[in-house]
Amino acid sequence: MEALIDDELDPRRAERFLVHLENCPGCLRELEQLAQLQRSLARLAPVRTVA
Ligand SMILES: [Zn+2]
Repeated sequence: MEALIDDELDPRRAERFLVHLENCPGCLRELEQLAQLQRSLARLAPVRTVA
């Protein structure tokens, strides 16, 4: 899986990553799992893990 957090900081890289996701079910699934994890963490502690 690519450096997702870095991609979020760079719109051009993020766009390229989204294109990659369309062709990579593995990353897409990992991204969904990551989003679920962040929601769970946010519920447990109101601290931003990703700035
Ligand atoms: Zn991938």
